[in-house]
Amino acid sequence: MSKFPSLSTVSRIRGLSALLLFFLLIVILYSLSTLQTIEKEMHELTKVDIPLNEKINEIEILQIKHHLLMEVSESKYFKNTEIQKHLGLKNNIKESIEHQIIRIRLALKIIEKGIKNEHIAVVQTAHISAIDSIKRLDQLYSDYKNYLTILPLENKNLSIEQWKHTKQLDTQLDNEVEALLLKLEEVTKEVSIYTNKHLQQFVIINFILGLCALIIGSIMTHYIISSFRKTFSRIHDHLETIRGSLADSDVGDDDVPVQDEAKKDELRYLEKNLQTLSESLSQELINRKDAENRLLELATKDRLTGAYNRHRWEEQLTHELKIASRGGLLGVLVLDVDHFKKINDSYGHDVGDKVLIKLAREITNELRETDLLYRLGGEEFAVLIRGQSKEQLLHCAEQLKAYISNINFPKIDHITLSIGITSYKPNDTENTFFKRADIALYEAKTDGRNKVKYA
Ligand code: GH3
Ligand code: MG
Ligand code: MG
Repeated sequence: MSKFPSLSTVSRIRGLSALLLFFLLIVILYSLSTLQTIEKEMHELTKVDIPLNEKINEIEILQIKHHLLMEVSESKYFKNTEIQKHLGLKNNIKESIEHQIIRIRLALKIIEKGIKNEHIAVVQTAHISAIDSIKRLDQLYSDYKNYLTILPLENKNLSIEQWKHTKQLDTQLDNEVEALLLKLEEVTKEVSIYTNKHLQQFVIINFILGLCALIIGSIMTHYIISSFRKTFSRIHDHLETIRGSLADSDVGDDDVPVQDEAKKDELRYLEKNLQTLSESLSQELINRKDAENRLLELATKDRLTGAYNRHRWEEQLTHELKIASRGGLLGVLVLDVDHFKKINDSYGHDVGDKVLIKLAREITNELRETDLLYRLGGEEFAVLIRGQSKEQLLHCAEQLKAYISNINFPKIDHITLSIGITSYKPNDTENTFFKRADIALYEAKTDGRNKVKYA
C-alpha cells in the first residue's frame, strides 16, 4: 500500500524533491554563514590577539628586565659608590623604558589596525577596553620616562625617598602590565572558545543536516523506484483489461475505470502508450491495406491500360451469368480497334501503346461507374452491362463508337472501333454468350469496320 494515498506519483516525487532541495539549501546556507563567522574569529585571533599577546609578553619580559636593572641600580647607588660613576645607569633605565613605550605603541597599533580592517568582530568591547588600558600604560610609561629625566641618577644627590618613589612607580607599571596581559589572555581565550564552539556546532549541525538530506534522498530514490514498479504493473494490468475488453469487442470508452485523482498520471501515461500503439497499428493496417490493394491490382488489372485483365474477366463473366440465370438483363460489348496493326507499323509499338492507354481511359470515363472495362488481349476490350435492353445496348455502343471516333489521338489523329453486342439468353454458358458477341464483332469488321452489330 502507498504511504501517501491521496497524492499522485508525480506530486509525491515533486514534494520529496522540494524537501530534499530545501534541506540541501539549508546545509549550504548554514555552512556559508558558519564558515564566515569562523573565518572572522580566526582573523581576530591571528591578526590581532596572537600578535597582541606576543607584544604584551615582550613588554612583560622587558618589565622584568627593567625591574632587575632597578635592583642592580639600587645596590650600585646605595651600596657600591665607587663603581656608580662609570656605569651610566640613568641611560640604561631610560633606554629600557623607551623600549617598553615602543612595544606598547606597537600593541596599540595592532588593535587599532584590527578595528580599522574589521578583524575584530567577536569581542569588540573587550578590545576597546584593552585600548584604554594600553593607552593608560603608554601614559604611565611616558610620565615615568619624564620623571626619570629629571631624576639625578648620575650623581650622589639622589635621595632614598626619590628612589623609593621611583620603585613605587615601577611596581605600579609592573602591576598594570600584568593586568593588561591577563585581560588580553582572557580576550584571546574567549575568542578561541567562540571559534571552538562554532567549529563543533558546524560539524554537528552539518552532520545532522547531511544525514537528513541523505535519508530524504534515499527515501525518494526508493519511492521513485517502487512507484515506477507499481505504475508499470498497473499499466500492465490496464493493458490486460483493455486487451480482454477488446477481445469481447463490446466495451466503450465509458467502461475504462477512472478511480481517483491519484491514478490520473498513470492513466495519462497509459493513454499515451495506447495512442502510440494504436497509431502504429493504424499505420500497419494502412500499409497492409496498401500492399493488399497493390497485389489485388497486379492480380486483376492489366498493367498497360489499367483495365481489368482476362483473368478477372473470366471470373466476373461466370459470376454475372449466374446472376442473369436467376433473372435480370445482362449484355456484353466486345470492342476491337480497327486496323490497329497499321498504327504499330506506321508509328511504332510505343505509339500503339499510348493509343491503347488513352483509349482505355476514355472508354472508362464514358461508361457508367458500374460498367467495368476488361482488356481481353491486344487491342480487344469487353464491357459487361447489367439491366439494359437490346436497344439500350445498341444505343450505348453507338454512342461509345461515335465518342471514340471523335477523339484526337496524338500523331495518328483518329481511330475507329468495331463493336459486337449480345444479351444473355437462358442456358447461355460463358462460351455461347461470348461466342455470339464475337460473331457480332466479326460481322462489324466484315461490314466495313467502324460498325456496331448485335447478335
Ligand atoms: P482489324 O481491323 O481486323 O482488327 O485489324 P488489326 O490490325 O487491328 O488486327 P490484327 O489482329 O491483325 O492486329 C492486331 C495488332 O495489335 C497485332 C499486334 O501486334 C498488336 N498488338 C497486340 N497487343 C499490343 C500491345 O500491347 N501493344 C501494341 N502496341 N500493339 C499490340
Ligand atoms: Mg483490330
Ligand atoms: Mg483484334
